Amino acid sequence: MSGYSVRMRATFLPFCRPSITEEDIAALADVLRSGWITTGPKVNELEEMVARRTGARHAIAATSGTALMHLALQAMGIGPGDEVVGPSMTWVSTPNMVELLGGTNVFVDVDRDTLLASAEAIDAAITPRTKVVIPVHYAGAPVDLDAVRAVCARRGVPILEDAAHAIGTQYRGREIGGQDTAIFSLHPIKNITSGEGGVLTTNDDALAQKVRRLRFHGLEVDAHQRKQQGRSPLAEVQEPGYKQNMPDMNAILAVRQLPRLDAYIARRDEICSIYRERLAEVDGILPLGDPAWPHVHARHLFVVRVDERACGMDRAAFMEGLKARNVGTGVHFLASHMHRWYREHRPHWQGRLPNTEWNSARICTIPCFPDMTDEDAHGVVEAIKETLAGARTAVAGGAR
Ligand SMILES: *Cc1c(COP(=O)(O)O)cnc(C)c1O
Repeated sequence: MSGYSVRMRATFLPFCRPSITEEDIAALADVLRSGWITTGPKVNELEEMVARRTGARHAIAATSGTALMHLALQAMGIGPGDEVVGPSMTWVSTPNMVELLGGTNVFVDVDRDTLLASAEAIDAAITPRTKVVIPVHYAGAPVDLDAVRAVCARRGVPILEDAAHAIGTQYRGREIGGQDTAIFSLHPIKNITSGEGGVLTTNDDALAQKVRRLRFHGLEVDAHQRKQQGRSPLAEVQEPGYKQNMPDMNAILAVRQLPRLDAYIARRDEICSIYRERLAEVDGILPLGDPAWPHVHARHLFVVRVDERACGMDRAAFMEGLKARNVGTGVHFLASHMHRWYREHRPHWQGRLPNTEWNSARICTIPCFPDMTDEDAHGVVEAIKETLAGARTAVAGGAR
């Protein structure tokens, strides 16, 4: 490695770390001391804050984005014979819920450089059996919603947005979640977190009532009871439901974080700008492109593609090299249809989604979170350059 100064980071930099302040910890301690730790006033507050921010009539919190996907798909009546159209390039939790309900995943390919599904691809995938379309705002970039809405309106299919990455994302001046039904995740790697959790927003009163009911045993809850946090002890099951309610212990963290979301996104944007500028000079490390339509990007993930032909190294070696230099990475995502169960049980998808498969083999998430310093970001770029230089030196010097 002569000729390269290996300025190893002294500490490991993960690809993501939630921002938790001492005040957040104190607020959580207050909830623990209050005597009410499960679903209660903090969940109400979170739901009201998300409804206000997005402009949606209803916001419903639950234990995870995945849980809400399950509840929403069930509330929409997805079952055997029903098709659900969406990208394979997503977290496999969504296709899993479709499978568990007995539905059929119909995967659409994504754009090679934004990893977003186009309205044309969605249109081509819709059949008379299609019950819902699930576009994914990948990495915090919005899909072209006007075009997708036009297709779905013409074909008579509802939209359920996977906005797990997109709290704070705007499309043409409007916040995601205010128009169609959308699901946000509050998992610790997402832009704001409740530890584990998620929020669904919708303007559909009937859907909201069903999701609320399915979230808690199928018991009926009226608005007054929700406000009082009391349910009549004699409330009755309207249909069998699940147990997916968010505890106040979790809600308090997101209640604290939501007011900081815009500052977080601004900071993420600065880190991404450093990466984009500095990686432009690095061959074979290809950041994603941004969509062409007007938007505010939530900068949830900074994803690069490791192009072995141009940089002399495959993704696994690249990730190992960064890890050896104390830089953490992730893969978001191994395409759903490439997971073992899907390869074995839904083999007909292999080879049919070329842009998805090309990216699935090459994408790598590098560190991006609000508490990173500029120096951290520059250090990641240096670690990338040194990792690649190591590969080139090894090739030039022969196998050792
Ligand atoms: C995180 C994520 C989910 C699921 O959210 P959880 O809260 O972890 O269940 C769904 N879709 C995508 C694209 C995600 O990244």
